[in-house]
Amino acid sequence: MKWSIQIGRILGIPIKLHITFLIILFLFIYYFAAISFKVGGLVLGFNALDTSFDLKLLYSTIASILFFSTILLHELSHSYIARSNGINIQSITLYIFGGVAQMEEIPRNPKIELKMTAAGPGISLFIGILTYILYDFFGPVHLEGANFYFGEISPNVIQMDPMNALLITLGIISFYNIFLGIFNLLPAFPMDGGRILRAFLAMWLPYLEATKTAVAIGKTFALLMGLIGLLPPVNPFLVLIAFFVYFGAQGEERETYFAVSLEGIKVSDVMTPTPNLVYIPPDCTISQLVEVMFRFKHMGYPVQEDLSGPPLGIITFHDVRKVREELHDTVKVKEVMSKDIISVEPGINAYHALQIIAKNQIGRLLVIQDNKIKGIITMKDIMRKMEFMNMYPNSQ
Ligand SMILES: [Zn+2]
Repeated sequence: MKWSIQIGRILGIPIKLHITFLIILFLFIYYFAAISFKVGGLVLGFNALDTSFDLKLLYSTIASILFFSTILLHELSHSYIARSNGINIQSITLYIFGGVAQMEEIPRNPKIELKMTAAGPGISLFIGILTYILYDFFGPVHLEGANFYFGEISPNVIQMDPMNALLITLGIISFYNIFLGIFNLLPAFPMDGGRILRAFLAMWLPYLEATKTAVAIGKTFALLMGLIGLLPPVNPFLVLIAFFVYFGAQGEERETYFAVSLEGIKVSDVMTPTPNLVYIPPDCTISQLVEVMFRFKHMGYPVQEDLSGPPLGIITFHDVRKVREELHDTVKVKEVMSKDIISVEPGINAYHALQIIAKNQIGRLLVIQDNKIKGIITMKDIMRKMEFMNMYPNSQ
């Protein structure tokens, strides 16, 4: 989470850049300045322009930023459709392999999921084809004595004028958007094609079964891709993508399992409610706290004056370990407790609480309503409930 920076908001959605995205952006900028090749009539890269490397870098920077903006458009189109169907989008993060729109829940309605997912590759293909038409209309780039369709172009053979620079920019945007559109339609999680496949399957199968089937197909794809990548000549990029697809598919299965198992279960169904809750007064010493920890075998407790008072903080075993042992009788809980309380309301979905726990890498959440503590919920409580629900699905 800390590896992302927010660059702004579009449609009210925070847009973040992940550090891996910045790395790939700089690689792209350098790559498009240092190479030039022809693919299907398009010229990709500025090296063939007859100008200085500095100017090539400048054009390459503009082209790369424009291209990455079209990736953002792809994500925004997913988000736009999701939002118009009542799904809240928390943020969009751009990573090395493209973007991810974090949504509060994945729509369980196959038709909505289908529309929402297809919008992304749809926009990519639309931009790709539109820029290709523009390229064809204003161009193509005139190349002296090099009318081949594929292959590298020698440096400085294209006359330097703004039109040629614009055409190369259009070519890059066109080629990579068409590539992205097609790549994303591969029927494998975590690509859009995997979701489209799941949505189709979910019209006939239960949601979890549909996910499992789509995941199995995605993993098969990943293994095939990895195998092809490992055959000589070894293609490390393909192997890397195969890894990304394989683990992405696995992650999707786990997420869906959690989401489906916890469907309809609220925080209040799982939490340890207030009457049974052990709290620690702020003036308690660390020694007294350790005794409580031994007795009740919990690793974290809310800190408050009394049961009806507002929570002042949370104290965990992790905080205790920061205090040297000879000071345990003198240091008070209020001096080492964490005052920044991460909490949930009792009415929200337990799956959402699990996401908050995972995102913040903490063990427990206070359940608070109207500034009063209602209970505490731990990762363990949620897992136990999930196991139980899977053993006795009709209980609740
Ligand atoms: Zn997409």
